[in-house]
Amino acid sequence: MKQIRVRFAPSPTGYLHIGGLRTALYDYLFARSTGGKFILRIEDTDRNRLVEDAAEKLISALQRMGIDIDEGPGIGGDYGPYVQSERLEIYRHEAQRLLDSGYAYHCFCSAERLNQMREQQQQRGEFVKYDRHCLSLSEDEVKEKLARGEQHVIRLKMPDERVFAFTDLIRGDLEMDASQSDDQVIIKSDGFPTYHLAAVVDDHFMEISHVIRGEEWLSSTPKHIWLNECLGWHSPIWVHLPLILNQDRSKLSKRMNDVSVDSYLEKGYFKEAILNFIALLGWHSADDQEIYSLEELCKYFSLERVNKAGAVFDLTKLDWMNGVYMRSLTLEDVLKRALPYFVAQGFSLEVNATSLKMIEIARERCTLLPELVDYCKIFLSRAALTAEMKAALATEESRKVLAYFLKLFDTPEEDFVNLILTDLPKAAMQELGIKGKLFYTPLRLALIRQEHGPDLPSIWEILGKDESVSRIREALELQV
Ligand code: GLU
Repeated sequence: MKQIRVRFAPSPTGYLHIGGLRTALYDYLFARSTGGKFILRIEDTDRNRLVEDAAEKLISALQRMGIDIDEGPGIGGDYGPYVQSERLEIYRHEAQRLLDSGYAYHCFCSAERLNQMREQQQQRGEFVKYDRHCLSLSEDEVKEKLARGEQHVIRLKMPDERVFAFTDLIRGDLEMDASQSDDQVIIKSDGFPTYHLAAVVDDHFMEISHVIRGEEWLSSTPKHIWLNECLGWHSPIWVHLPLILNQDRSKLSKRMNDVSVDSYLEKGYFKEAILNFIALLGWHSADDQEIYSLEELCKYFSLERVNKAGAVFDLTKLDWMNGVYMRSLTLEDVLKRALPYFVAQGFSLEVNATSLKMIEIARERCTLLPELVDYCKIFLSRAALTAEMKAALATEESRKVLAYFLKLFDTPEEDFVNLILTDLPKAAMQELGIKGKLFYTPLRLALIRQEHGPDLPSIWEILGKDESVSRIREALELQV
């Protein structure tokens, strides 16, 4: 069997979006699970949409997610160049072959004429498609126009009557009537190929075995099959992935912040969770397991288990998954990944027992990395006490509780460490004869400025002796 070779072929928008990552991931998983090759090709033939460094940005985004590319721009491979704007000669040569064999023709129609033609077709209720005005030009007329340097495009002559039958690995046997297909432009007036010609030519010369792409390209497949036939080539195996949908089942939003992978990373989602979540946008395993590492995905993924139906982008599920990773990665790992978010808010933490303990408590209650910072603020800074808090701290019971601990904590550091390991709250409640809310509220308010939160020994451990004492003293010294 031929080697499996798949390609991710993004247009250079400069950022990786959710849909692109899903295609790249499925390409990658399919390649890895079959011993095949995963290729990156940059489809930059639309000169109006060029973005500088697009290839570098995409490669680094994929690498950040852990997806390694076998062949591509800047990476190398035997089938390059992997950027379409560097392959123009190849497309021109193939377009010439199509012209020579009569499958393609020059079209000199102006934009005005084409607009007028379309309007008239619309008024008559007809299909809007090129009326083949230039197909009737004689060879000499074409030569003359070309010699005069008249602006032109090259069009592919689509068959008049043709139902294209083909198999899609996910959708099964399909038939698509192409009788009403437009004579597709394959070389534009700027001399660049359109996507259709370039993709078919590259897929052939790069020996792509499976074309894995979004469902939005399904309607172009008859054109691509026809192009392959005209050029005398076999078509690759077609694999069209289901659409990704918003919650209301509309097509996934195009707003960059909603779909750019980087923006999810910035929001504090783990790359493992994003990848895991994206893997399940259209695929699931036989046993419906939900949490997968990339290695596991490489092992279990199969195109046969990809659905036809649109996959809903459910942010609640991504949040849930992120929470799972938040609680299952090692504490040190979570802390290290959270550090930049702490720094951004002016807290410089070190990786030590205290900060790890803080993360251990915080991660039970947080979904995203920045939420850890918000949670840990109770330890890292002292919020101002509100009038209500001050009043609660000023009661006779509160002052008794606070004074008790101020005295108790007046010990050397070593004793403090041992002391908080004992069941201090129970012993204190017994001795003071103050229980429940009356006991806990003043301590929590003094120590963390809120009535609810972690258990007292954890608070003491994280704050340490000096800070605990200082916060209790501050509360006791309040002038109400
Ligand atoms: N350049 C196309 C895109 O931006 C690729 C389509 C394909 O994979 O054939 O989606």
